[in-house]
Amino acid sequence: MTALLEMKNVSKVYSRGLLSKISTTALDNMSLTLKEETPTIVTVAGESGSGKTTLAMLLLGFIEATAGQIIYKGTDITKLRGEERMTFRREVQAVFQDPFSVFNPFYTVDHLLSVPIKKFKLARNKQDAFERMEEALTAVGLQPNEIIGRYPHQLSGGQRQRINVARALVLRPKLLIADEPVSMVDASLRATILETLQNLQRSYGVSIIYITHDLTTAYHIAESIVVLYRGQVMEAGSVDDVIKKPQHPYTRLLIDSIPWPDINRRWGETEIEAKESELSDYSKGCRFLARCPFAMEKCQPAPPPLFQLSQFQAAACYLFDQHPKLASEQLTELLPV
Ligand code: SF4
Repeated sequence: MTALLEMKNVSKVYSRGLLSKISTTALDNMSLTLKEETPTIVTVAGESGSGKTTLAMLLLGFIEATAGQIIYKGTDITKLRGEERMTFRREVQAVFQDPFSVFNPFYTVDHLLSVPIKKFKLARNKQDAFERMEEALTAVGLQPNEIIGRYPHQLSGGQRQRINVARALVLRPKLLIADEPVSMVDASLRATILETLQNLQRSYGVSIIYITHDLTTAYHIAESIVVLYRGQVMEAGSVDDVIKKPQHPYTRLLIDSIPWPDINRRWGETEIEAKESELSDYSKGCRFLARCPFAMEKCQPAPPPLFQLSQFQAAACYLFDQHPKLASEQLTELLPV
């Protein structure tokens, strides 16, 4: 099996201040491998400040890792040059949160879709380019004859986000980084966009890293999930195990904050507040220490490793230290494909 993408012990630290440098670890020692032969959807979930967007920027090559390596088809992405770099740029695409900001109001949809086709010289002639656009629009559930020739303001938010997906699809990507793609879309249209992404994986063999704060959409779209908190993996595994039977106190808190439609279930009953003074000290031990109702003395000196709870579930929490320890490089083994 060849790896499409490998993250090897990747960390990203941001520093600020001239004399006394203040450092923030946005992502800490994360490893993840996506195989080329088995396209999959992996959700990366967490609140704001969890490191999700830093992860997206790193994978797209927009920022460089402070430590570790990101390898695409066998080459470190910081070393890609010439043709290889163009292939990476074409094959790794992104869909971002805001379906409104990426459109120039003066250009029609077909202009928007034709720009990447021209840039990467993907069509032999105009007719070929047009057919690619039609195919991509159809794949995302839009009627080409209703969409081509129209301006962004003539489309709904859901249509615009699907055009963003089509814009990635005309490039025949291998990997899509979808960073909160449905958070600014009406609830009624979210399911359609999630289905569109699943269709890309199943019918076009595109692997997707689906980044979200919303575990309900994660449950509907992905097979596996990695839960981040302050840059560290808290829990990972199959969505079925992690969402239906969350073990890490942080994942349990996230699940409890979902407003399930169940009158017998008390929503938000495990609200856990952190004290500011405690938050500044989290780096010594478990990052969730200041908010955790189960915190113990042993949670303080060093962050917990992942402990394997079942074939497809592990949690980084000393409550489970009787289970086998996993190295961060073994994270991928927990994710069903
Ligand atoms: Fe809570 Fe300790 Fe587990 Fe961290 S390691 S989540 S502080 S019990």
